Amino acid sequence: MLEIARRFRRDGLNPVEHVRHILKEAHDDKLNVFISIDDEGALASAEKAEQRIRNGDEGTLLGIPIAVKDNICTKGIRTTCASNILSNFVPPYDAHVVERLKQRGCVIIGKTNMDEFAMGSTTATSNIGPSRNPWNIDKTPGGSSGGSAAAVAAGLCAGALGSDTGGSIRQPASFCGVTGLKPTYGSVSRFGLVAFASSLDQIGPIARTAMDVAVLYDAIKGYDPKDSTSVNKDYKVTSLDELDLKGLKIGIPPMFFGEGLNHEVEKAVREGISIFKELGAEVVEVKLPHIKYGVAVYYIVATAEASSNLARYDGVRYGWREENSRDLVDMYASTRSRGFNDEVKRRIMLGTYALSAGYYDQYYEKASRVRTLIIEDFKEAFKACDIIAGPTTPTPPFGIYDMLDDPLSLYLLDIYTVPANLAGLPALSIPCGFTTSGLPIGMQLMAPAFGEDLLLGAGITFQAHTSFHEERP
Ligand code: GLN
Repeated sequence: MLEIARRFRRDGLNPVEHVRHILKEAHDDKLNVFISIDDEGALASAEKAEQRIRNGDEGTLLGIPIAVKDNICTKGIRTTCASNILSNFVPPYDAHVVERLKQRGCVIIGKTNMDEFAMGSTTATSNIGPSRNPWNIDKTPGGSSGGSAAAVAAGLCAGALGSDTGGSIRQPASFCGVTGLKPTYGSVSRFGLVAFASSLDQIGPIARTAMDVAVLYDAIKGYDPKDSTSVNKDYKVTSLDELDLKGLKIGIPPMFFGEGLNHEVEKAVREGISIFKELGAEVVEVKLPHIKYGVAVYYIVATAEASSNLARYDGVRYGWREENSRDLVDMYASTRSRGFNDEVKRRIMLGTYALSAGYYDQYYEKASRVRTLIIEDFKEAFKACDIIAGPTTPTPPFGIYDMLDDPLSLYLLDIYTVPANLAGLPALSIPCGFTTSGLPIGMQLMAPAFGEDLLLGAGITFQAHTSFHEERP
């Protein structure tokens, strides 16, 4: 991304030509990463950007092609959440983050594929079918922001936006060999993000390098009065410099290297940690005793919030409606049963059950209590270390349809990513190696709230001394 910005100014690369080329590639794409491509809008903004560059505007993001996950509202461009129920929804407004990117002169190429309503880890639940992993088209790119991560890895955009409720930025970033940040809860406005689980959802950037991610994060973060959970706080602007890692304390929870971890992933992540050590960091063991309940807590909290958030899709206010119905109740029922696919229905049922009278204290309330214990665990751990490191996912990318009939096993793979969402913490996935068959492996770094500066600095430093992020599929 920074490289393209430089070439616009020094090598005479023309932004309009560049965007034309990208659009052509996007139309020819075999990976099924785009749900919509906005040729007209993209070319119009490329022309404007070109003007501004010609007039000496130094803005880094001017003319930079960006892809946006299809659960983030874009004015005048369909925003479907990969669901039949929103198949005809054209938002009359831009999400806060999209507005921000447009102000900086970014070119929005199109909307990327995802799991329906961001519920999943493969993009296989999308109503347009799954995206493919550019490193091996029989493998999943991960999910739910699989389209965004695959688009970055395949060079169909310079950077992308995803959303992360339980790992949906970091896991696909890891599977596609790119860098992805799930920001601190409240640091990026959720205005215009279609809600899945409101207390967990965050929008964040995906790009090849931590430096590009930092530039995008800087552009989208900041207070927004239209999001009641947006934090109005002055915190350090992300620096793009390498850090001196001498004395940086990296906490390793032994549980992150426990049962179920693929040995190739373990090896690559341990090697990644040794690179940090060589750069001067110190490794300490930290305990996160309640993390083992993370997946259970997550699937109660996330489904409960989803069941409530998705109640609004009733055929009356938004999107698609079943017209052939007998009466109002039949219209609601048939709109929802034909509008949603199985995974979304499963979660609505689970969440409704967890919230129902008589079960609320047993499930939702209990999960909320354990969530607090997990938050406390992190507070305690960060007394002994500056960042926590481990694998992003327990396995390398798997076959696209491998897990389709086994939702429970799929849920368990979220073990390393959900804790950061439950605790609202920032977390970064960076490439740290490859399997013997050439599939990317990612490493996760977590920091205390608003510690993006440190996380990105550590990522930038790691990438200055490694080349995993430079490999191309
Ligand atoms: N895989 C997780 C889930 O299925 C995470 C999804 C997300 O972060 N949007 O819920």
